[in-house]
Amino acid sequence: MAAKIRASKAERNEAKEYIKAHLPQYLEREGINPERNFKCLNPNHDDTHGDMSYHRPSNSCACHCGARYDTFDLIGIEYGLTDFNEKFKKGCEIFGLLGQEENDEDLKIPANWREINPPDEYKLPERAEDELCSKVYYRLTKLKCTKLKEEHKKDLLRRGLSEEDIKRFRFCSVPDSGKEAAGEIVSSGIFPAKVPGFYTYGHYSIYTMVDDTKGYYCPAFDGETNQIAGMQIRADNPQKGGKYIWLSSSRKHDGASSGALPTILPGKDTSLWIVTEGILKALIIYCLLGKEVSVIGVPGVGTIGGFKEFMKKKAGLNICFVEAYDMDKVDENKVVKQAQQNLLREIEKNGFKAHTLTWDTKNGQWQKNYKGLDDFLCDYVKTKSGREKFITYLKKIKASLLQPQTKTA
Ligand SMILES: [Zn+2]
Repeated sequence: MAAKIRASKAERNEAKEYIKAHLPQYLEREGINPERNFKCLNPNHDDTHGDMSYHRPSNSCACHCGARYDTFDLIGIEYGLTDFNEKFKKGCEIFGLLGQEENDEDLKIPANWREINPPDEYKLPERAEDELCSKVYYRLTKLKCTKLKEEHKKDLLRRGLSEEDIKRFRFCSVPDSGKEAAGEIVSSGIFPAKVPGFYTYGHYSIYTMVDDTKGYYCPAFDGETNQIAGMQIRADNPQKGGKYIWLSSSRKHDGASSGALPTILPGKDTSLWIVTEGILKALIIYCLLGKEVSVIGVPGVGTIGGFKEFMKKKAGLNICFVEAYDMDKVDENKVVKQAQQNLLREIEKNGFKAHTLTWDTKNGQWQKNYKGLDDFLCDYVKTKSGREKFITYLKKIKASLLQPQTKTA
């Protein structure tokens, strides 16, 4: 991440305005529909019925508890930031205003953004029912034109997945022609209206799909309903949006936004859940551990709206969480550290116990060989005993976190 943003005062102000104007998009990214009431985002307001709403004329979120937030306030809450410069930097990062190179410090604010996306005309496109989205995505993975390309398969194998995993979890490549892919889905009798990634064009409303980011699709599964909740693209040539991009067609005719979805992968043991960052990473960890333990992947370290929903559903159950964010969390100054602390607080707030997992350390120092748990496991689990050792270790953690159960089968 750039240490300092190089910009004139005018550019900074423009960026500030841009970020503020994109409050509805920020909410949407958090999985919140700004057109409806939602749970108050004030951490001190234990809101159970959804008292907060987005107020268009003032472009802020307000609640009767007195909370009134703009985008920067929400970034501060979500990422545990208090310093405005930090919030500003994070905002620029979230909205893709920074270059993709580490040393690129110039702000990139889209020209004419006010005309392109007038904030007061913003309307959240509805998303089709989960069932339809899942049906369309399953179909998409089975098309000839999305067959996994050799280079993509190689990348997945290198990361530790087996050929069988790659097939089973339906990895496939972005088609050359979105028109062709959408056409095939339609001709099989499925109409992808309001399915994120799909949209219609022309006088006869012909279906097509977004195909401009080439790469491979990583399905985000909801393993509890056996549905594909969304599709993330691992981009071949990462652009401003980063390496991982959601398949989305917001602001297009009959299109919809992806939302920010977690992937939920229940293993044989559903009382211990590893929480990691990233859809693909979660799936790799799940496979490397032989589907023995459960894994949940949040779409980004700070994007835990879907995870909070998940915890709500699990209220009262004797389960625990093992936080496995990337090892740069050991650096006190990093955004990921703050996000990690926030995650642990949320888990506790929901009445669950959590343990922080660290790896690749020597005398408490991170050795910087493996950043993600997936990288670490990829080597550690090469032998069968490595996997068993790691699972035994997790079981010990679990035993220390969970209340003893009366023995049942
Ligand atoms: Zn409130």
